[in-house]
Amino acid sequence: MPIAVPVTFGGYLELERKLKALGFVEIPWRETAVIMEPRGVTPQRILIHGEIGFELVANGYKVRVWTSCIRKEVERCRRDNLLDEVVSRAPRRDAGWVLIADLVGRAHYFAGRTSRTKHFVRTLLQRAWIAQYKIRHRVTCSVCGAAMEICSRSDTGGNFWGCFQKESHPDKKPIWEQWDFGLPPKATKIAEAWRKERARYYAKKRRAAEQKKATDGAVCVGT
Ligand SMILES: [Zn+2]
Repeated sequence: MPIAVPVTFGGYLELERKLKALGFVEIPWRETAVIMEPRGVTPQRILIHGEIGFELVANGYKVRVWTSCIRKEVERCRRDNLLDEVVSRAPRRDAGWVLIADLVGRAHYFAGRTSRTKHFVRTLLQRAWIAQYKIRHRVTCSVCGAAMEICSRSDTGGNFWGCFQKESHPDKKPIWEQWDFGLPPKATKIAEAWRKERARYYAKKRRAAEQKKATDGAVCVGT
């Protein structure tokens, strides 16, 4: 397991500056927000307490970036310019998130959990960049030209694009396009590496769940 590293105010400032340069704006303050972990093994609600998030809206979707940095701590450090002070919560318990939601706030895509290792800021920024590129260059249907929708598989949570303007298609069926369609090659390569990593993570989680089930079963038999 990689070493957990907290986020400093200096790291947060870099994140904030680069997200704003991409066109993200800070999400108005709320005490908590709830996001759903990607459908994979066990869907999980994640509560965000007083955490700073950023948002970018384009073409009917919005990208949300949750930084895992606490507003209260960031404000304290900003007052006195304390660049080396920690502004995030306990590293092992918390992570950063990038997701794409529709305009009513239903999430359709999760970039995966961004763990707080020493590469946290860089990884979160890469994920934010890819997500904003996807909605700014929303894929259009190769048959009817309509803007395609973000779809996800119910079993693995993997994403793809779909067009449901069936009447405009000769065979009256939906048209599908792969998730990374149109993404620049460098970004595609990075995204593929993450997907592999994520597949390994879920396989491990699944094995652990199966093992636990087997053990629990054994206990029941014994009593
Ligand atoms: Zn179409």
